[in-house]
Amino acid sequence: MFAPDQSDASVRPSPNFGPRAKGLNPEIILLHYTGMETGRGAEDWLCNPESGVSCHYIVHEDGGVVQMVREADRAWHAGKSVWRGETDINSQSVGIEIVNPGHGLGYPDFPKRQIRSVIALCRGIAARHAIRPALVLAHSDVAPGRKVDPGEKFPWTVLARAGVGHLVAPSRRRTGITLRAGDASECVAALQRMLGLYGYGIEITGIFDARTVIVVEAFQRHFRRSRVDGVADPATVETLRRLLGTLPLPLGKVQAKIR
Ligand SMILES: [Zn+2]
Repeated sequence: MFAPDQSDASVRPSPNFGPRAKGLNPEIILLHYTGMETGRGAEDWLCNPESGVSCHYIVHEDGGVVQMVREADRAWHAGKSVWRGETDINSQSVGIEIVNPGHGLGYPDFPKRQIRSVIALCRGIAARHAIRPALVLAHSDVAPGRKVDPGEKFPWTVLARAGVGHLVAPSRRRTGITLRAGDASECVAALQRMLGLYGYGIEITGIFDARTVIVVEAFQRHFRRSRVDGVADPATVETLRRLLGTLPLPLGKVQAKIR
């Protein structure tokens, strides 16, 4: 047993963890859904040595929080992932599994009390490790095409109102250029550059290829949830531009190109 990092969490240790890689500290909070029928089943699985998976916390539908791995240690939740060019996301993150059966099992709404607990937990983790709002991420952000959790029903807006995560009001812009699968242009390259600057794992090819579709979908699933279709319409691009505009990044030229 260990003392919980979050004071009101209960503790159920998982054997599935190791040390964080050399000198890496938590900079990311990574949010998941469990994607299993019951929270109890998910908790058992994450603590089962045969599963080879774990996370730091699980948040149940009733708001109860259970810590399974100490924040100082490396839990096994991200899998093959990339953000800002870094691939050992487990060494750089604190992982939270939010109980929800997921898209394969009806994908119910997240209960309010569960979200209240997620918010309190994220605030605690962010304070303990000085985690920046723009690094509160979805599993789908770091593993596009492979993962869709916690999905487009996850209430990022409610979290943002409570000071958790990075969000702007989604744009409704309709005028301007729409980029989609098969397009090849400087504009596509600029879009890829913007997505890459924000953190997504994408190559600058100038071609709107299958990977670009998948990354645009991942972006929409988090930041423009009303339509997740992999098409970079003017509202999607403008939402991305607004997000980047709030960060201290070298953007001028990149942003100018897709006007
Ligand atoms: Zn996940």
